[in-house]
Amino acid sequence: MADPQGFLKLDRRTPARRPVDVRIEDWREVYEPFPKQAAQDQAARCMDCGIPFCHNGCPLGNLIPEWNDLVYRGDWQEAIERLHATNNFPEFTGRLCPAPCEAACVLGIPGPTGDGAAVAIKQVEVEIADRAFAEGWIVPQPALEKTGRTVGVVGSGPAGLAAAQQLTRAGHDVTVLERADRIGGLLRYGIPEFKMEKAVLDRRLDQMRAEGTTFRTGVDVGTDLSVEDLQAQYDAVVLAGGSTLGRDLPVPGRELSGIHLAMDYLVPANRVQQGDLQRPPISAEGKDVVIIGGGDTGADCLGTAHRQGARSVTQLEIMPEPSPSRPAATPWPTWPTILRTSSAHEEGGARVFSVSTVRFTGTSAVEGLEVVEVDMSNGRPVPLPATGRVLPAQLVLLAMGFTGPQQNGMVEQSGVELDGRGNVARDRGWASSRAGVFVAGDMGRGQSLVVWAIAEGRSAAAAVDRYLGGDTTLPAPVLPTSR
Ligand SMILES: Cc1cc2nc3c(=O)[nH]c(=O)nc-3n(C[C@H](O)[C@H](O)[C@H](O)COP(=O)(O)OP(=O)(O)OC[C@H]3O[C@@H](n4cnc5c(N)ncnc54)[C@H](O)[C@@H]3O)c2cc1C
Ligand code: SF4
Repeated sequence: MADPQGFLKLDRRTPARRPVDVRIEDWREVYEPFPKQAAQDQAARCMDCGIPFCHNGCPLGNLIPEWNDLVYRGDWQEAIERLHATNNFPEFTGRLCPAPCEAACVLGIPGPTGDGAAVAIKQVEVEIADRAFAEGWIVPQPALEKTGRTVGVVGSGPAGLAAAQQLTRAGHDVTVLERADRIGGLLRYGIPEFKMEKAVLDRRLDQMRAEGTTFRTGVDVGTDLSVEDLQAQYDAVVLAGGSTLGRDLPVPGRELSGIHLAMDYLVPANRVQQGDLQRPPISAEGKDVVIIGGGDTGADCLGTAHRQGARSVTQLEIMPEPSPSRPAATPWPTWPTILRTSSAHEEGGARVFSVSTVRFTGTSAVEGLEVVEVDMSNGRPVPLPATGRVLPAQLVLLAMGFTGPQQNGMVEQSGVELDGRGNVARDRGWASSRAGVFVAGDMGRGQSLVVWAIAEGRSAAAAVDRYLGGDTTLPAPVLPTSR
């Protein structure tokens, strides 16, 4: 155990964010450096609970009290070993994860210590990973023996990367096939720099290359290479193509110009940061922007619009405004439905809850949208009379989630069965209905989180290793049905 009295003496602390007026002038990550001692103090607060509920909150089963203890004692090098035992990419989750572990931390139980006083687990995680990279402790771990078996992984998001790293280290020859021009999936072209700078992704890819994973970009499986050809080239195939179909809003006026799916806006904005484009083809500069959808994707659009110089930004959400503290319906240690204020929300803009869009207005380009207040108490939006109003908007971004994986191309061609929600179905062993083809990440689960994608990639890798060799020692932290 770290300091037996740490939680009594020390408060929860997380890093300061850079001043808003400074950070919206650039695209760098929003957080100030976190002093080493502050991270050790957070680790010192961990009580090494007999039943560490934080484990339960984490799909990866991260050994949180163990690495908290090591950080408290200053043994950062052993801490990265323990962290890597369950998580291939702690530098991604430490930056991006909403931290269900913290929601489940015993110190977060409402009471004298107060709700929300959980150990700053995610911050300790990212500090361990970044320190380990800076110290040169993260080195390639090539397999000691090769199996002579080959695996093709389609898709290079966190699920595909986790599966590929596990299988390469198990001795298989792994090729990741990605249709985009760079590796990373949503880590590369969805999530903006201000949440995770791409250098963080690139240094991990360098390690994977040095371990022997092969990356092929610009290959759209189903178009450039048939699934049959893929199976002829590889002994096993993992589909990790993500959940990429954005939900649309088919209301009158949708055909007006200036209304875009969020990803059509975020991808080129990220390409500007990568140096591919001088200017974004869709820009918020000088415009009144309305974002429809109150989730993570909407928040990323919000931060991007401010950095592009929007005149105003309004984010609409159909659900009512959640309470700022944990409601009775989602008690500890469950994931609470609370009002989440991301760094992008802190940077400005208005958040409007309990509204639904009736129509877009304008002649050829969008000029506004008519919204109406709704009652969601029965689970469906019921418009409230005489609440209609028009919001000015010259740019509208649709960030209402994703309906599932793209069907045409690879999915249709492979003939794999889909589940009731349109995701690629898999059995308990991560196998699709097509022999030798496995499924991991959002393509099977539906749009989820980076931490789930990594957990799925690790688990699917164990299944593939068993399929190829009859047995496996690779860990499988989750089942396809785990929630
Ligand atoms: C804007 C946005 C912000 C997000 N922010 C967060 C966050 O802050 N924290 C968090 O935990 N989660 C976040 N998420 C969710 C998270 O990014 C995803 O759950 C995660 O990336 C899923 O990983 P994946 O590997 O399954 O798929 P993806 O990351 O979607 O990667 C799939 C890859 O497969 C490729 N591909 C698809 N079909 C083919 C084909 N036929 N041939 C070759 N390649 C193909 C795609 O080009 C893509 O690169 C966010 C999602 C979005 C959209
Ligand atoms: S639940 Fe919180 S206090 Fe308990 S072991 Fe986990 S991180 Fe430490």
